[in-house]
Amino acid sequence: MATDPVCKMNVQPAKTAAKTEYAGQMYYFCSEACHKAFNAEPQKYAGGAPHGGGHTHGGSHHHGH
Ligand SMILES: [Zn+2]
Repeated sequence: MATDPVCKMNVQPAKTAAKTEYAGQMYYFCSEACHKAFNAEPQKYAGGAPHGGGHTHGGSHHHGH
Protein backbone atom coordinates (compact mmCIF):
# COMPACT_ATOMS: atom_id res chain seq x y z
CA MET A 1 0.00 0.00 0.00
CA ALA A 2 1.24 3.45 -0.85
CA THR A 3 0.01 6.88 0.05
CA ASP A 4 -0.95 9.56 -2.39
CA PRO A 5 1.30 12.45 -1.28
CA VAL A 6 -1.18 15.04 -2.51
CA CYS A 7 -4.46 14.01 -0.92
CA LYS A 8 -3.01 11.51 1.57
CA MET A 9 -5.34 8.71 0.64
CA ASN A 10 -4.17 5.15 0.31
CA VAL A 11 -3.53 3.86 -3.15
CA GLN A 12 -2.57 0.44 -4.39
CA PRO A 13 0.54 0.65 -6.56
CA ALA A 14 -0.78 -2.11 -8.80
CA LYS A 15 -4.00 -0.26 -9.47
CA THR A 16 -2.93 3.33 -9.26
CA ALA A 17 -4.06 5.76 -11.92
CA ALA A 18 -0.75 7.51 -12.08
CA LYS A 19 2.72 7.34 -10.64
CA THR A 20 5.92 9.28 -10.90
CA GLU A 21 9.47 9.08 -9.68
CA TYR A 22 10.94 11.99 -7.80
CA ALA A 23 14.29 12.16 -6.02
CA GLY A 24 14.75 8.47 -6.52
CA GLN A 25 11.45 7.51 -4.93
CA MET A 26 8.24 6.37 -6.51
CA TYR A 27 5.03 8.20 -5.72
CA TYR A 28 1.59 6.89 -6.50
CA PHE A 29 -1.56 8.90 -7.08
CA CYS A 30 -5.25 8.20 -6.88
CA SER A 31 -5.92 10.23 -9.98
CA GLU A 32 -4.34 12.21 -12.76
CA ALA A 33 -5.38 15.39 -10.97
CA CYS A 34 -3.19 14.55 -7.99
CA HIS A 35 -0.41 13.54 -10.35
CA LYS A 36 -0.49 16.95 -11.99
CA ALA A 37 -0.61 18.72 -8.65
CA PHE A 38 2.47 16.83 -7.55
CA ASN A 39 4.34 17.57 -10.75
CA ALA A 40 3.55 21.25 -10.37
CA GLU A 41 5.19 21.41 -6.94
CA PRO A 42 6.95 18.13 -6.20
CA GLN A 43 9.06 19.56 -3.40
CA LYS A 44 5.92 20.66 -1.61
CA TYR A 45 4.54 17.14 -1.43
CA ALA A 46 7.62 14.96 -1.40
CA GLY A 47 9.17 16.39 1.75
CA GLY A 48 7.47 13.94 4.02
CA ALA A 49 7.30 16.46 6.86
CA PRO A 50 4.02 15.88 8.73
CA HIS A 51 3.46 19.48 9.69
CA GLY A 52 6.24 21.26 7.91
CA GLY A 53 5.78 24.77 6.68
CA GLY A 54 6.52 23.52 3.23
CA HIS A 55 9.98 24.83 2.66
CA THR A 56 12.86 22.84 4.03
CA HIS A 57 16.25 24.41 3.86
CA GLY A 58 19.45 22.49 3.86
CA GLY A 59 19.83 20.18 0.93
CA SER A 60 19.04 16.64 1.78
CA HIS A 61 21.53 14.92 -0.40
CA HIS A 62 21.75 11.47 0.99
CA HIS A 63 23.56 8.77 -0.80
CA GLY A 64 23.55 5.55 1.08
CA HIS A 65 26.37 3.43 -0.09
ZN1 LIG B 1 -5.11 11.85 -4.68
